[in-house]
Amino acid sequence: MDKSPASVIRDEIRSIAAYHVPDSIGMVKLDAMENPYRLPGDLAQQVGRIASQASLNRYPDPAARALKTRLRQAMKVPDALDILLGNGSDELIQMLALAVNKPGAVLLSVEPSFVMFRMIATFVGLRYVGVPLTTEFGLDLPALQQAIRVHQPALTFLAYPNNPTGNLFDAAAVERVVELSPGLVVVDEAYHAFAGRSLLPRLAHYPNLLVMRTLSKLGLAGLRLGLLIGGAEWLTELDKLRLPYNINVLTQGVAEYVLARGDLLETQAAAIRDERARLYGRLAALHGILPFPSDANFVLFRVTSANSVFLALKARGILIKNVSGSHPMLTDCLRVTVGTPEENDKFLEALRESLPRAA
Ligand code: PMP
Repeated sequence: MDKSPASVIRDEIRSIAAYHVPDSIGMVKLDAMENPYRLPGDLAQQVGRIASQASLNRYPDPAARALKTRLRQAMKVPDALDILLGNGSDELIQMLALAVNKPGAVLLSVEPSFVMFRMIATFVGLRYVGVPLTTEFGLDLPALQQAIRVHQPALTFLAYPNNPTGNLFDAAAVERVVELSPGLVVVDEAYHAFAGRSLLPRLAHYPNLLVMRTLSKLGLAGLRLGLLIGGAEWLTELDKLRLPYNINVLTQGVAEYVLARGDLLETQAAAIRDERARLYGRLAALHGILPFPSDANFVLFRVTSANSVFLALKARGILIKNVSGSHPMLTDCLRVTVGTPEENDKFLEALRESLPRAA
């Protein structure tokens, strides 16, 4: 009897590569869209106090009530809407995919976009349809209209701003997708803090729209906290798929405390937005580099040889993301997260040294 993984594990799982997280010890880490700023010393001390007083012997509040109340205030979520929390927004994507997974159901997104939309569809056995963006990385409405008509997606994800391209789609086009869709549309606003635009005010208008956010890009990636915002009729059903106690006691206590400290995270986001403008300008001024405008906390740029530039940067201690090869529209593209001014200067210096010399 064959008891090996080959006979037991589903073929589609064995045939995909695991989500790769490279080793970054000792590197200037600009690959994962993290906020480069740590908490100020006094806040960090308070966090230590919260950790020391937490009842680690008890399960956390399964409903995370105090944290939800704080999130509602911080993100200005109207009272009429509900909030569902996930262990990162990745977990929310998984819950959504599991919930709609009827035989033959389709998860639709655009490409290139966040790879977990496709990966999670594969994990749970949903059929995935990816509609290419236009050459300007915008929504291709005729193509989307056609795909929606043919595939009748149960679930559609649009990242707004999009990763890895960094741009905001045209809001009217996003709303058109919501109108055309027979199923649920989730607008993933992971990078909202750097864009200032949101579909949140449109939630009341569309019965099949949900908005997803995360604290990861805001400065609390290590806590793993994502949230889904929308009508109770959807979130009550999705909540049934949530594993009990998915938000641990330290995450609940620390996130609530940090969010209560007013505009600290927003001040950091503002500094990142300023640095993004400087970084973009410096990249645009370099010969042989084409940066794409960004509404997020990273910049996508094209070089003449992405693989060699990526490796040369790595050899100089700078870790960014090589997205060349992940999609034909991203050939020779690299993605750099906006870091501190010092990190960005180190990156720019190393980049200058890594570019092929003009003949
Ligand atoms: N959505 C988008 C568009 C992302 O880029 C990311 C992270 N790269 C996530 C969701 C996941 O964020 P998290 O699980 O940390 O909340």
